[in-house]
Amino acid sequence: MAESKYKIIIGLEIHVHLATKTKMFCGCELVYGGEPNTRVCPVCIGMPGVLPTMNKKAVEFATLAGLALNCEIPSFTKWDRKSYYYPDLPKNYQISQYDLPLCGSGFIEIPLEEGQTKNIRMIRAHLEEDAGKNTHTFGDFSAIDLNRAGSPLLEMVTEPDMNSGKEVRALAVELQRIVRFLGISEGDMQKGHMRFEPNVNLHIPKDGKIYKTPISEVKNLNSFKALERSVTYEARRQYAEFVEFGKTMEMGNKATFGWDDDNQCTVLQREKEEAHDYRYFPDPDLVPVEMSDEWLGEIKSRLCELPLQMQMRFVQDYKLSDYDAGVLTADRQTAEYFDATVKSGVDPKRVCNILTQTGLKLANEAGCKVAELGVSSDGLAELAKMVDASEISASASVTIFEEMTKSKGAPKATAEKLNLIQKSDAGEIESLIDQVIADNPKAVAEATSGSKKAKKSAGFLMGQVMQRSKGQANPKVVSEILNKKLSL
Ligand code: ZN
Ligand code: MN
Repeated sequence: MAESKYKIIIGLEIHVHLATKTKMFCGCELVYGGEPNTRVCPVCIGMPGVLPTMNKKAVEFATLAGLALNCEIPSFTKWDRKSYYYPDLPKNYQISQYDLPLCGSGFIEIPLEEGQTKNIRMIRAHLEEDAGKNTHTFGDFSAIDLNRAGSPLLEMVTEPDMNSGKEVRALAVELQRIVRFLGISEGDMQKGHMRFEPNVNLHIPKDGKIYKTPISEVKNLNSFKALERSVTYEARRQYAEFVEFGKTMEMGNKATFGWDDDNQCTVLQREKEEAHDYRYFPDPDLVPVEMSDEWLGEIKSRLCELPLQMQMRFVQDYKLSDYDAGVLTADRQTAEYFDATVKSGVDPKRVCNILTQTGLKLANEAGCKVAELGVSSDGLAELAKMVDASEISASASVTIFEEMTKSKGAPKATAEKLNLIQKSDAGEIESLIDQVIADNPKAVAEATSGSKKAKKSAGFLMGQVMQRSKGQANPKVVSEILNKKLSL
């Protein structure tokens, strides 16, 4: 097996766009799209003599992420200039953080299969501004859109603690869930809100030695699929290179690759012979950030229960499957809606079924969250209670929920309107059972014979009664009376 021939070592760098109202160091509005170069000002296009002003909200969002990732939050950080020249960066430097990042070391817990988790250590997380965008769709010319320039970016770097494409993907997905739960980023991959850059190499045991292959850095991945596949591809490519040429770290340390989605392979961009000299130095235009205990405490108070913790709680306390719990904690609103419903004392599995069998589908069709469909958590709880009390069947609850989203009626009134209230009146059910017994003497004989067919025949009689009641008889009551009549 390929897996036993080597161990894959992966670290990840992630850039996440923060959902502030304005850019990182100026007042330009932060919205997606728009005519190119319309959301710009002298500050974010780097005109000489302008002064940047720090966006406090961005610092708070970044700190919130740091707290969620169990990072140390230092009381003093500063801004540095990272110098490089590129058309999408007109001021020739990016404001970033070098030696004193906003968030120090921490860790993120990621879900693996079957409720297992793994902690991936975070080296750091810092704030910086994004560059503009080069486009190459004008024939011989390149065009530059600076609308994105100056957007707040949270850069996070992990230790090389991941060992498969699956684990890297799990981390990326979990991070998306976290930033969405915290409300600090939409985490929309289509809009480029999250970009990933894995560092991949192999440890290959051979002749009692461990050989290490040169590290590949795959740049600018903006989908989970591309991230996972690029890692898997790199592992295979590096192994083949090792087998054929014996290529190890000592022969070339690091190279940068792009991902070719059409051909599903990595493409060499450049081999780094010397490290970049970014000439980092403190930005003289910005004051350092001092995080007081009071400010940090205020930010801490905005933390919420994290998605994975909530998912595990749903499994543990509510006895949901890991899959169902994962579905219900995909976003915070749905998770809290479910949680609030269950907390009023109804069967969690019942509520889960209503939501997964119909609620999520309806929400998807309506383009909203299930909590926004117009059924309150109280209404949903009441509906689930009606199933528990055998007033309606489980399948009827799904139909009633759907109708409630349309008519906004109460569960009981809606059930009555749809004629879905189960009949539990013993007298009425008894007369139906008598009819069925009279009409099916053969099945009755078999059901009471104690033979192999008995169970099947009793089931048949039960079905007949339900059919005659047009599905409205309470199956529990039917089964009780029927068993008594047949003296089973
Ligand atoms: Zn601006
Ligand atoms: Mn960066």
